[in-house]
Amino acid sequence: MTANKKAIVAGGGLVGALWAIFMAKRGYDVEVFEQRSDMRIAGYSGGRSINLAMSERGWKAVRKAGIEDKIRKVAIPMYGRMIHSLSGELAFQPYGEAGQAIYSVSRGGLNLELLRIADRFENVKFHFDHKCRGVDLDNNIAAFEHIPTGDRIQMQAPLIFGTDGAFSAVRNSMLKRPRFNYSQSFLDYGYKELTIPATDDGRHAMPNLNALHIWPRHNFMLIALPNADGSFTCTLFLPFEGGEDAFDQA
Ligand SMILES: Cc1cc2nc3c(=O)[nH]c(=O)nc-3n(C[C@H](O)[C@H](O)[C@H](O)COP(=O)(O)OP(=O)(O)OC[C@H]3O[C@@H](n4cnc5c(N)ncnc54)[C@H](O)[C@@H]3O)c2cc1C
Repeated sequence: MTANKKAIVAGGGLVGALWAIFMAKRGYDVEVFEQRSDMRIAGYSGGRSINLAMSERGWKAVRKAGIEDKIRKVAIPMYGRMIHSLSGELAFQPYGEAGQAIYSVSRGGLNLELLRIADRFENVKFHFDHKCRGVDLDNNIAAFEHIPTGDRIQMQAPLIFGTDGAFSAVRNSMLKRPRFNYSQSFLDYGYKELTIPATDDGRHAMPNLNALHIWPRHNFMLIALPNADGSFTCTLFLPFEGGEDAFDQA
C-alpha cells in the first residue's frame, strides 16, 4: 500500500461508516475515529435513535455497501402519511404512485450493519472512544483524544474526511481558515423521542402500520414510524419556548 492511499475518517456514524466501505473498496487504508464506544459491544447509546425515513437515495447507498437484503428484512414501507385529526379521524395521503414508499429503518441498526461491513475489510481500522479535537489543515494532521484516558494522538494522511456530524470538529478547524464561508441557524423547535410499545402478542398497537403517522397540532406535532418488532418510534416536536405547548413549560 502506498503512503498516499491512506485516509482518515473522523466520525463513524452513518456517513463515516459508509464512506469507509467505499474508500476501502478503492484500495485505501482507512482509519476511522469515532468518539462513541463500539456499538457492537456497548449498544447504540448516546446517538439519535429516531428512525430514518429512507428514500431511494438511501437505498442506493445501502445497495452499494452490499447490505440491501439485510436492511430490506427490517425496513417497513410507508406508502403515505396517515393524518390523525383532533376528532380522531384518519386521512391517508399517499407519497407517490401505487407501490412507491419511503421506508422506516432503525438508525442504530443501520449504523451497526455499516460498521460490521466496514470492519470486514482488512484495510479499515476503527478507533472507538476517540474524539477528534481538530485538524492541522496545512500539514494534514488530525488530533484525537482517547476519551477514557485523555491521551492525545496525532495522525497524518493525505486525505482527511470530516464525517463527525452537526458539531463537526473538522469543520471547526476549517472555520479558522481565512475566507471560509459558513453560516448556522437554529430552529425554534426541539424534539423528544417516545415509544408506542408492541401489544402483548407482539403486534403493532395501531392499524395501518405501513404509514408515517402524523398528529399535526398547529405549532407542534407528533409523528410515529413503525418498527419491525411491533413498536412505533414517535417523535414529539415542540417549540422550545412560548405558550403551554412548549418544552420550557413541559
Ligand atoms: C430529528 C431528526 C430526524 C431525521 N430524520 C431523517 C430521516 O427520516 N431520513 C433521513 O435520511 N435523514 C434524517 N435525518 C438526518 C440524518 O440524521 C443525518 O443526515 C445523518 O445522521 C447524517 O449522518 P452523519 O454520519 O453525517 O452524522 P451523524 O449521524 O450525526 O454521525 C456523526 C458521527 O460522528 C461522531 N462524532 C461527532 N463528533 C465527533 C468528534 N469530534 N470526533 C469523533 N467522532 C465524532 C458521532 O458520535 C457520530 O457517530 C434526521 C435528523 C434529525 C436530527
